[in-house]
Amino acid sequence: MSGQNPYQRAWVEVSPAAIEANAKALRRYLSPETRLMAVVKADGYGHGAVTVTKAALRGGATSLGVATLEEGLELRKAGLEAPILLLSNLCEAEELRTCLHWQLMPTLSSLDDARVCDELAKDSGRRFKVQLKVDTGMSRLGCALKDGISTIRDIQNLKDLELKGVYSHLACADDRNTTVTQLQQQRFRAVIKALPQQGRGLCFHLANSAGTLLTTTLHHDMVRVGLALYGHPPATHLADVVPLRSALSVRAKVTLIREIPAGTGVSYGHQYVSQNSVRLAVVAIGYADGVVRALSGRIHALYRNKHLPQIGAITMDQLLIDVTNAPELGPGSTVTLLGRDHEAEITPQTWSERCHSIPWEILCGFKHRLPRVEV
Ligand SMILES: *Cc1c(COP(=O)(O)O)cnc(C)c1O
Repeated sequence: MSGQNPYQRAWVEVSPAAIEANAKALRRYLSPETRLMAVVKADGYGHGAVTVTKAALRGGATSLGVATLEEGLELRKAGLEAPILLLSNLCEAEELRTCLHWQLMPTLSSLDDARVCDELAKDSGRRFKVQLKVDTGMSRLGCALKDGISTIRDIQNLKDLELKGVYSHLACADDRNTTVTQLQQQRFRAVIKALPQQGRGLCFHLANSAGTLLTTTLHHDMVRVGLALYGHPPATHLADVVPLRSALSVRAKVTLIREIPAGTGVSYGHQYVSQNSVRLAVVAIGYADGVVRALSGRIHALYRNKHLPQIGAITMDQLLIDVTNAPELGPGSTVTLLGRDHEAEITPQTWSERCHSIPWEILCGFKHRLPRVEV
């Protein structure tokens, strides 16, 4: 993309100021003892991991969560020194060696994992900082609940490891029914309670965005916030707990205007046939950019506070909008597919409801062919 005008065809605008403001708002809501981890996996939920990380640290986050080794390395190579936790599982000793070298904390799910790390650390002359995950009900990563306490003790007895934290992950925190969340909380608390001595100095953490906004009793020593940091509530009933600002907008250029008479089929499959004559605009963005094809005919583009209906099938690189009511719009005009334009806003929630997705998937679905532009 270097040397090219990023505003040429379609692009993603990212506001570091919004990320920083969201981190600050979350920080104000947390007690002073509770730390804020910024979850910046999947390239900062599509916003650009380095940009997001710097803004979140300015806003009061003190550690970072990533999914993959590559994501951790990207942050270290950008010179970022905050603690980084790998939230996924690594199963190759070589990967763990890379973690040790770059001071990335792996998530362990068993004593066997811990022994591998201990061996690696012995050869290196430095202690390996790690965290243990305990499964309280997600059934994904983590040691079995019944083994939690003994695993923690055994890991603490390994000389070349430094167990920094013990955590778990909520499966249903965005559900209005809090039964599962309460059960997970009870289980997590029971682990903490069984460790009065050994637990000292460990960082216990459980809450994602939804858990963070649901109740402060889930906060423990740290919260791991992703979606809310980017300005989006994880559920409508959690929307007003902390004031959040969307940090991302997707914009694209109109490349062609045409008039079609009544009765004209539009785009692949002719899913749309005009009732009247229509002024059509071709917009240079499509499903290969992350505008989900299942949204065909279900979304709008914004232009100067007008909501212009998208019509016909969304194609790989282009889509069509009805601009009959926006005669001032012409080739070269910029429209907004997602995010804010003047007073109007289209949210990832709106999209996700219309294509049976979730806001998380919408945000990290924007492809890298869209340049990220900081505003
Ligand atoms: C992705 C992730 C989070 C952040 O989730 P949000 O719902 O986006 O806040 C927290 N913890 C773990 C383990 C994760 O994988």
